[in-house]
Order: sequence, then C-alpha cells, then structure tokens
Amino acid sequence: RVKEAGRNGVAFFEQSMQVTASKRLVVENQLRRALALGEFKVYYQPQFDSLSHRVVGAEALLRWEHPEQGLIGPASFIKVLEESGMIIEAGRWVLAEACQFFSRLRESGLVGFDNFSLSVNISPRQFRQSGFVDLVRDSIGSQDLPPGCIKLEITEGVVIENISDTVEKMQELRQLGVSFAIDDFGTGYSSLSYLKRLPLDLLKIDQSFVRDCASNGNDAEIVRAIVAIARSLKLDMIAEGVETEEQLTFLRGMACHCYQGYLFSPPLDETAFMDLLSRT
Ligand code: C2E
Ligand code: MG
Ligand code: MG
Ligand code: MG
Repeated sequence: RVKEAGRNGVAFFEQSMQVTASKRLVVENQLRRALALGEFKVYYQPQFDSLSHRVVGAEALLRWEHPEQGLIGPASFIKVLEESGMIIEAGRWVLAEACQFFSRLRESGLVGFDNFSLSVNISPRQFRQSGFVDLVRDSIGSQDLPPGCIKLEITEGVVIENISDTVEKMQELRQLGVSFAIDDFGTGYSSLSYLKRLPLDLLKIDQSFVRDCASNGNDAEIVRAIVAIARSLKLDMIAEGVETEEQLTFLRGMACHCYQGYLFSPPLDETAFMDLLSRT
C-alpha cells in the first residue's frame, strides 16, 4: 500500500528501512551463532542486606563474551533477542544455567537453601510462551532445588497485555513455590490497581530513581512514595543501582536495607562470585 504512495519519498523510506532491516539481520545472525557457540555467559550480581551484613541473593545477568569485542552487556542485544523470538531459547538457557549455578553454590557450602535466592529476568515474550510453567518446574526440578530459592523478575510490560492470564500464570508458578519480583518499578505504564492484583513478593526500586535520591528532592520523594507503596502492598523491597554511601544512607533512612549496585559489587562471573562469598 505504502509503495503506491508517491515516488521519491517512498524510495527513500524503503531504502532506510532496508538498511535497518539488514543490519538487524546481521545482528540476529551473530546472536544465533553466539548462542550456538556458547559465547553467552551468565554473570551474577550480589544482593546485599545492610542490616544483617550478608549477601542474601544474586541476580543472573546475561553477557555476551564476544571473541573480538570482549564482554557485551544485554542493553545492546536483549531487544533483538526479544523481537526475533530468540529470547525463548536464550531465556531457557539462562534459567537452566542459573539453576545449575545455585546447585554448585550449595555444594560448595557457601550458601544454603534457606538464606540465599537467585533472581532471573523473564521477558514478556518468555513469560507468555506456552509451557513456561513446565519449563520453570523442570529447570528447578532437574537440579533438585527447592523452588523457593528462585525468584522471577518481571516488568510491567508482562502485565500490560492480559492481566488475568498473567495473574493466573503467576499463581501457578507461585504454587510451585517460586516467587516474583517486579523489576524497574515505576518506569512502566501500569496502574497501581493492576499491580495490586499481581501475586508479587518483591519490588525492585529502579536505578533511575535511586541515582539522584540523595541529591534531588523530587527523586527523594519518588523513592519515599515507592517505599510506601511496597509497604502497603506488603512487599519486600530492594534498591537497584546503588553506587554511593549517600544513596545507601538515604535508603536506609527509608528502612530499605536490601540493595544491589556497584557500591557493594558489580555483576561477577561465577569464580569471582564464589570468591566474594567466601570472603564475606
Ligand atoms: P535489570 O534487570 O534492571 O538489571 C539491572 C541492571 O543494572 C544490570 O544491567 C546491572 O548490571 C546494572 N547495574 C547494577 N548495579 C549498578 C550500578 O550500581 N550502577 C549502574 N549504572 N548499573 C548497575 P545489565 O546487566 O546491563 O542488564 C540490563 C537489562 O537487561 C536488565 O536490567 C534486564 O532487563 C535485561 N537482562 C539482563 N539479563 C537478562 C536475561 O537473562 N533475560 C532477560 N529477559 N533480560 C535480561
Ligand atoms: Mg532485573
Ligand atoms: Mg531493574
Ligand atoms: Mg533496568
């Protein structure tokens, strides 16, 4: 249809679309190769409780160890994985990897089932795939983990499409014992009445609010409001992207004691993570 709409403008439009599309294809193919060749790695960022002074968990974060370009973070490729559908396979792999990692951590004696949990990010497309509940059950079951030690992080994007399906699926997973965190809280478009309906356990305060909470009055008020919401919905909370003592002091003043961020540690590979655990 668009093609018939007048010459020059259309030719230009088509050309630029083509560039984007072929660039996209190149990236897609590279990612497909990376997945097949085992170039993806999972890093783990410790989550620290400043009250008990203990590492209480970790978030699994995908990395691409590119043979030439080095370590590449997901910001530059998660969207391509999601839109191409490759996130289904990559996500399955991350989940399996995380469960195996937990099992090794347990065997090392560095953590127990009752004092540590592992968080895995789940994209909207992954969450909505049929068989997702079975996939989670099987991944956890194959490592003999109690499901309570796995947390699934979802964003508001998961919720927006179909709230009752979402709630139903979450409930099924929670019956297994898995818990749920709402990630990047406050950055999406869902309303509080939506959130109230979700069977959540944990709210993650997005780093965009944490960044200036100690220096900017508006951000301080936003964080205060988010903490109040978490309290009234009876959710645990954790702050993301904590980089400075000032941010931590502010958060502790709000009685938010759990955090992850460069102040405590960046995401680490498995060896470095184990080293950190054995030192703390
Ligand atoms: P997220 O789930 O909100 O993860 C937190 C991000 O903040 C991570 O970025 C982490 O490295 C970064 N971060 C942690 N501490 C600090 C800090 O103190 N300062 C700053 N500036 N950043 C900090 P990363 O690893 O680049 O991941 C970006 C996003 O990609 C994640 O955001 C998540 O939405 C997505 N992602 C990562 N791994 C996966 C995965 O396995 N599956 C899916 N579906 N998404 C993933
Ligand atoms: Mg996350
Ligand atoms: Mg987040
Ligand atoms: Mg984020």
